[in-house]
Amino acid sequence: MADTDIAFPTLSAADIAALRARGTVRHAKAGEVLWHEGDRRFPLFVVLSGAVDIIEHTSAGERIVTRHDPGAFTGDVDMLTGRGSVIEGRMVEEGDVLALESADLRRILSELPVLGETMMRAFLMRRTLLLDSGFEGLKIIGSRFSPATHTLVDFCSRNAVPYTLLDLERDAEAEGLLRTMGVKACETPVVIGRDGTWRSNPSVGDLAEYVGLVYAMAPDEVYDLVVVGAGPAGLAASVYAASEGLRTLTVDSTAVGGQAGTSSRIENYLGFPMGISGADLAMNAMMQAEKFGADISVPCVATGLRIQGGERVVRLNTGVELRARAVVVASGIEYRRLDVPRLRELEGAGIYYSATEMEARLCAGEPAVIVGGGNSAGQAAVFLGGRAREVHLVIRGNDLGKSMSRYLIDRIEGMSNVRLHTMSEVSALDGEQFLRAVTLRSSDTGREETIAARALFIFIGTVPNTRWLRDCVALDDKGFVLTGTALDPAQRGGEAWRLANRAPLFLETSLPGVFAAGDARSGSVKRVASAVGEGSMAISFVHAHLGMTK
Ligand SMILES: Cc1cc2nc3c(=O)[nH]c(=O)nc-3n(C[C@H](O)[C@H](O)[C@H](O)COP(=O)(O)OP(=O)(O)OC[C@H]3O[C@@H](n4cnc5c(N)ncnc54)[C@H](O)[C@@H]3O)c2cc1C
Repeated sequence: MADTDIAFPTLSAADIAALRARGTVRHAKAGEVLWHEGDRRFPLFVVLSGAVDIIEHTSAGERIVTRHDPGAFTGDVDMLTGRGSVIEGRMVEEGDVLALESADLRRILSELPVLGETMMRAFLMRRTLLLDSGFEGLKIIGSRFSPATHTLVDFCSRNAVPYTLLDLERDAEAEGLLRTMGVKACETPVVIGRDGTWRSNPSVGDLAEYVGLVYAMAPDEVYDLVVVGAGPAGLAASVYAASEGLRTLTVDSTAVGGQAGTSSRIENYLGFPMGISGADLAMNAMMQAEKFGADISVPCVATGLRIQGGERVVRLNTGVELRARAVVVASGIEYRRLDVPRLRELEGAGIYYSATEMEARLCAGEPAVIVGGGNSAGQAAVFLGGRAREVHLVIRGNDLGKSMSRYLIDRIEGMSNVRLHTMSEVSALDGEQFLRAVTLRSSDTGREETIAARALFIFIGTVPNTRWLRDCVALDDKGFVLTGTALDPAQRGGEAWRLANRAPLFLETSLPGVFAAGDARSGSVKRVASAVGEGSMAISFVHAHLGMTK
């Protein structure tokens, strides 16, 4: 089936009859705006008669993205995510539309699975086609060499927020726009919204607010479950919890997808014989969780956790406290930093901890250096090898086979532009505002070699994202969260356990009703499949805990 057939199916009379029973028919005049850009939680419309145009407001004026005739339906992924709409819907020919509110849509997706699948596939494909069509989205004006610009661009691309980067170094339009707005280059990066308003050097929190990513939390609400971390473990927990009727809120400090979301291609996750990109896996999982009614809020950093009365309280960096009957900790791990002078200064300005499409664009046609001998480094070498002029893969040992899967080694060996530096480490970084060169030192000979590379990718092991839990739950000596039988008797004692009157369940931490899943958990296998497995499994223990505390 062609992509456009998937994106724009025509509903059958039977489908429309089933939908009619769940929505409200109304008449709309030509020219009526059904929803504006930026609107949230507006209805999905099935066109019964007349026609609806989907319009993008570009800098050059209006662009009609598509026209929906009778039998078609409006909507894309934001129908479920609740984010602000990136396009406008306008009636162009007077007629009747069937309006389905977001709650109606969720019911349809669960009660009419075949029709629901058609709609979900259409939503996902529409977003892909929209982005491929040169959709402008937000405009970010800044230098591609600036860490602040990189932070904003990274946030948008990891959170599937459509954007266009106008690079001060390359795009003539960038300077012209700044002049028109009366903004100096030192005030960049500047983000221009689709309504023409702009902000100078916003934080990611401001940007998220601006594009409607932040979920409006009700401070008095007691959730059945709060999930901290929206990587594979947290998303799996959210899908299972929401689908089993638990009122679920999931928060993430950075982006949906976690580490997996930064992978260019995951090839060993069951059910995807051709592999799946981390970005697609994250988007699909997010839609699945939201389809069942989970709310997801990004960016939202958990800074502490405690039990208060019968509730678990998760404190956020904003000062907001989330109350829940149970918590799943799925905050994963993050990459270690290299111990080399000037590293912090150049992070985001040539030094990266993930190799996605965005970073690949920055080093296209230029040399890139990757440090690390694990599978993440291997995937990055294969991916960047297709884009960079040459890739230097640097490992401290003498044998890639000790830490990397054979399939990746075979691919790397088959790439003529990937050069392996064994027994080597990075000894110096050079560059003013942006990385210009990386010096490698051989631990065998002490000889140094300087590579004129504008990108250095670091994949040298990990540390758990559990600093926020340090005084809250028991951690092992490396900082991973202890659960179940790994807790020693002292960690399973105390008032909370006396009141619970039971032993910790498998995946339960030293606080009753607080569970841990995925890479952050002590003893877990650091893989997508195991994180997904643990996240799903945690929900059966959440039910057991809730059942025992009724
Ligand atoms: C580049 C790369 C490629 C990989 N490729 C593969 C592969 O091919 N196959 C495979 O099986 N595995 C692969 N892995 C490993 C796999 O991605 C991880 O095992 C998996 O993502 C772990 O999932 P998780 O949910 O436990 O944690 P994570 O994915 O680490 O997610 C944790 C989430 O928690 C959030 N968070 C952290 N602290 C806080 C806080 N205080 N408050 C709120 N949120 C917080 C983070 O932002 C993050 O989104 C790869 C990893 C990387 C980095």
